[in-house]
Amino acid sequence: MPNADDLLVLKALGLTKKYGRRTALEHVDLAVPAGRVIGLVGPNGAGKSTLLHLATGLIEPTSGLLRVLGSRAAADASHLARVGFVAQDTPVYKSFTVEEHLRMGARLNPSWDSGLAERRVRQVGLRLDQKAGGLSGGQRAQLALTIAAAKRPELLIFDEPAAALDPLARHGFLENLLEFVAELGASAVLSSHLLGDISRACDYLIVLCGAKVQVADGVKELLDVHHRLVDPPERLPLGVEVIQGEPGGRRVIVRGTAVLPCPVEPVTLEELALAYMTRALGASEGRR
Ligand code: ADP
Repeated sequence: MPNADDLLVLKALGLTKKYGRRTALEHVDLAVPAGRVIGLVGPNGAGKSTLLHLATGLIEPTSGLLRVLGSRAAADASHLARVGFVAQDTPVYKSFTVEEHLRMGARLNPSWDSGLAERRVRQVGLRLDQKAGGLSGGQRAQLALTIAAAKRPELLIFDEPAAALDPLARHGFLENLLEFVAELGASAVLSSHLLGDISRACDYLIVLCGAKVQVADGVKELLDVHHRLVDPPERLPLGVEVIQGEPGGRRVIVRGTAVLPCPVEPVTLEELALAYMTRALGASEGRR
């Protein structure tokens, strides 16, 4: 019988990370199921990279628990092989050719799929003899994605993978990423401050702001329980939580499943994420 935690790609309980006196993550709880494309959104400084670096074992928590695919992050070599990581600005070795990158990947990773790597490189129009230093930002991102995916990980982690790309290259890169994830049957976590990218690519959302998780759930589940109320009354039914706007205001975003006493409109994922971030930033300004 698999342990229930094995079915989670990420599980965090009271996860806290401090850099000196600065708290980058504070008491984060998460239970993210496998098989999802997870969008991790939040403004700069929210703690996104910190969470991803903890998940890849690059840094250690200050306190609390973190499980990645059912084990401690980077627990051992076999666990490391199950997780692929593409760091910010998609690092590649400038003086190495594309082919040398693939050869290095094969040597470092026992589960390396050279057929997949070579096919993908051809598909995205990279030449094997091109030096990585001469590639465009979009091509570099594709190479880094190929290297992370060719080790056939169960979980792919991307820290702002497409932030430096122009909109067209970003679109192509995200499409490719989704194809890859589907082909591998993997889960993926994708951090971004670009809400449009997250809405396009993800089916699970984590909003991080001010070192805390503001909301985390499947996109469908979130869209089902959030609504915009038009001209709502001052008093709302029990169990309806105002996320953005004032009770009694003209347009109010709420969470709740109760029957609502006014016209109701759907909200988009972007509006929902913005509402949570605005609320968190408002609360932290209120505390100052
Ligand atoms: P994000 O990826 O959402 O922009 P980060 O995780 O990089 O956020 O940063 C969260 C907070 O932790 C920020 O206040 C940042 O300045 C701080 N921080 C991140 N890394 C370090 C570090 N190595 N040393 C000190 N502070 C850091």
